[in-house]
Amino acid sequence: MGEALINGSGAASNDVSALETLGPVTKLTDANPSEIPPASGPSRENAVTISDILERRAKAGRLIAPTASYSDSDMFKGPQVGKPKSKSMNHHLSAESLSRHPCALKQAARHLKNPGIISLGGGLPCAEYFPIESITLKVPTPPHFSEAATSQSGAEVRIGKYDSTDPSIQGTYDLAVALNYAQAGGSAQLLRFVTEHTELVHNPPYSDWRSCLTIGSTGALEQTLRMLCDGPGRRDSILTEEYSFSTALETAGPLDLKVVGVKMDGQGLLPEAMDELLSNWNPEEREGRRKPHVLYTVPSGQNPTSTTQGLERRKQVYEVARKHDLFVIEDEPYYYLQMPLEESKKTELEEETVESFMSSLIPSLLSLDVDGRVLRMDSFSKVVVPGSRVGWVTASENIIEQYLRHAEVCNQGANGISQVILYKLLDEQWGHEGYFKWLMNLRQEYTKRRDTMVTAAEKFLPKEVVSWTVPVAGMFYWLKIDHSQHPGIQAGKGILEVEEEIFNSCIARGVLVARGSWFRAEQDTEPNELFFRATFAAATAENMTEAIRRFGEAIRESFKL
Ligand code: PLP
Repeated sequence: MGEALINGSGAASNDVSALETLGPVTKLTDANPSEIPPASGPSRENAVTISDILERRAKAGRLIAPTASYSDSDMFKGPQVGKPKSKSMNHHLSAESLSRHPCALKQAARHLKNPGIISLGGGLPCAEYFPIESITLKVPTPPHFSEAATSQSGAEVRIGKYDSTDPSIQGTYDLAVALNYAQAGGSAQLLRFVTEHTELVHNPPYSDWRSCLTIGSTGALEQTLRMLCDGPGRRDSILTEEYSFSTALETAGPLDLKVVGVKMDGQGLLPEAMDELLSNWNPEEREGRRKPHVLYTVPSGQNPTSTTQGLERRKQVYEVARKHDLFVIEDEPYYYLQMPLEESKKTELEEETVESFMSSLIPSLLSLDVDGRVLRMDSFSKVVVPGSRVGWVTASENIIEQYLRHAEVCNQGANGISQVILYKLLDEQWGHEGYFKWLMNLRQEYTKRRDTMVTAAEKFLPKEVVSWTVPVAGMFYWLKIDHSQHPGIQAGKGILEVEEEIFNSCIARGVLVARGSWFRAEQDTEPNELFFRATFAAATAENMTEAIRRFGEAIRESFKL
């Protein structure tokens, strides 16, 4: 077996053929998430398999990627035969982004590939002074993922300081590399894993796609918004679901981005409503703001509503994006937490294979993106550990390059300790197959948790005023409260006032739920609905049940039921 030195160019050849268009877009299905058709997207037919990846790796030999070495996804992708190149999206870039130049010191690292070169270039400390000789992890061995099984039969993994240069170990990634500075796009070792994973799951339909690591999707969104939208002066605005991730809204506000909410139904964003909004956009009626050119959407298990766009819905959203030349930010931390509703499917989960798991996932917008107008954000937060602060983005090469220009000067990319731990766990211990098995296990666990919460809700919530839809993805129940029946509202109180009263009463009873108004895209308008968000991710089954009981009590008291 040979060795692959990462600083070589290594780019895969990308054949270009006629632009592939999407299949026919059918009429909107109605709002019920249980009607989401099974996934049978375009991306699985010529899908890259885990065996292809293993073969590719065997041919390439051991990955050698020393301190701060340059790498990009092209070094790890398969040949992109028959795919077109992405269209230029440069006209979406902000003046701020266009004014960024490559970081001179990071660029200089490309010369480290020259054999025998002695670097006096960058201010990289010597590993000799890193006061950590090794780290040992104990991790589950697939498919024995429980804490008890890990404790009994988990694997001990040691990460030494010089594993890669020690001929007796011939490691791929060690502490001397991981604890030092690195390229902003991430270490070659973990970038290889996420690039392959992205190819396995999404296989973007254009050739020049790339991934790069991020510091998690929160930071990635802030960077992406600044990359795409001009702040004060240009009066930009962005589209999102009418209820959206509150941190995303809090990111957009100080950038002077006006957030415009698009109506939703049980499958999330309504493409027709988005089309109408954009077709009738009049800057004069919108504080002089130009027509939005960016959509921020969470297609699976949307936060806070847990709505999930079915495949047809995704195609329709994408078509509207094309029609109005929108750039789409697809934020998907809950993508793998897609859960079946029917009992029969739940039992099938236990016999699921990796292949059937992958086919069961609703295809992403990235996998439908023939133009290169989607930047997809993935995160390890909800499916491995949030404290890692590691995720990745995937988009066209141009967009990723631009993203990196910002990363180089604001955070220098993902944390090295996290990267080496994730690499050891996901790549060396589990491999792609093991990681998919972990994700399969996780979705089984979340399915149980979701069902525990619905049992509690059925038992303790007054159905005459509280309603909900059982989510098919994500971590949340979005509880709709019929405010019209509230005595306070009937006596002239506002929705926000009643919401606050219920929230405070919940706190007094010892339960924290999130107020629906925190998630309203258009914070400067009056709400006309009342919601609370409750997560089934955080508490034990027992505590979750007790919390819902307390919430039910607060509602009953507030409504005088
Ligand atoms: N995006 C959405 C929609 C989320 O719900 C969350 C977490 O709640 C995040 C991003 C945060 O992701 P990260 O931990 O990668 O920053």
